[in-house]
Amino acid sequence: MSPKIAILGAGPSGLAQLRAFEAARKAGLDDIPDVVCFEKQSDWGGMWNYTWRTGLDAHGEPVHASMYRYLWSNGPKECLEFADYSFEEHFGRPIPSYPPRAVLLDYIMGRVEKSDVRKYVRFNTAVRWVEYSEQTEKFTVTVMDHDKGELESDEFDYVVVATGHFSTPNVPEFEGLDRFPGRVLHAHDFRDAAEFAGKRLLLVGSSYSAEDIGTQCYKYGAKEVTFSYRSGPMGHDWPEAFSEVPLLTHVDGTTAHFKDGSTREVDAIVLCTGYQHHFPFLADDLRLRTNNRLYPRNIYKAYSSRTTRA
Ligand SMILES: Cc1cc2nc3c(=O)[nH]c(=O)nc-3n(C[C@H](O)[C@H](O)[C@H](O)COP(=O)(O)OP(=O)(O)OC[C@H]3O[C@@H](n4cnc5c(N)ncnc54)[C@H](O)[C@@H]3O)c2cc1C
Repeated sequence: MSPKIAILGAGPSGLAQLRAFEAARKAGLDDIPDVVCFEKQSDWGGMWNYTWRTGLDAHGEPVHASMYRYLWSNGPKECLEFADYSFEEHFGRPIPSYPPRAVLLDYIMGRVEKSDVRKYVRFNTAVRWVEYSEQTEKFTVTVMDHDKGELESDEFDYVVVATGHFSTPNVPEFEGLDRFPGRVLHAHDFRDAAEFAGKRLLLVGSSYSAEDIGTQCYKYGAKEVTFSYRSGPMGHDWPEAFSEVPLLTHVDGTTAHFKDGSTREVDAIVLCTGYQHHFPFLADDLRLRTNNRLYPRNIYKAYSSRTTRA
């Protein structure tokens, strides 16, 4: 009997799995597993699906999306091109290196739609629990099928967890936030930069989210952008309305206080403080425990310096 595999999540990672199994099946390989992919959203594409919703989705599940309305790729598209499906093949002509979200979604979808794997995905189906039995050597996967309104369980030989890790915000506490009169939100809930037109914005964090949300809000009319960093400033040659200050210590009314004793008057605060690896559906013995990355901090550097020398 063919092994049974559960793939959790139909974002780019889950879809890559589905496509690989389908390619093997088409190539006539023996013993191709029975595959089922559980996806809690109503469509595939994972993080690249935009939704205006924040908080809970239509089924009361945590909203997965952290992408925002005018998001553009922050890495060159050449670095995320699939080896077997080029951008040029998909769009029929060369396109710029930094496309908007919708263009990348179209590309990711184009490849997978050609491979006829939609039939393996159960949409609106949230994974609730996964456990492993040493006796049967099988995983029991329990899901909530929101279309039927029923919980159900099934056994699998393997489980691929492809549920992403940019969805559960890491939200620190700062004294005075509870009394701040303006809007406070985490980057996960940021959707529309136009909301901050004319505002003095404080972004806590100095990585991709802060950089991108700050510059985008400025583009859409924010009056001032202050970045507050923990370890070090980004140090770009910012326009005049931008500044970088050390970490926020507390907020008093609309006055934000920073570690170096400086202050700023601000109207809104966006916590760009990262995401947690969060697998609430995995039993303790299966759960990956990591703050952010599984591998040693310098693995990418080591790899790139080796390849540069070669
Ligand atoms: C703001 C932002 C900007 C980004 N910009 C870029 C960029 O420019 N370039 C780039 O390459 N990458 C970017 N990324 C990274 C992006 O996350 C990856 O490109 C890619 O989406 C990761 O794919 P994935 O399949 O691993 O996870 P995801 O795309 O997150 O997909 C995971 C899927 O699992 C589903 N899921 C989660 N929990 C459950 C559950 N319990 N039951 C069932 N289904 C579940 C989700 O609904 C989702 O469909 C960005 C991320 C963010 C947050």
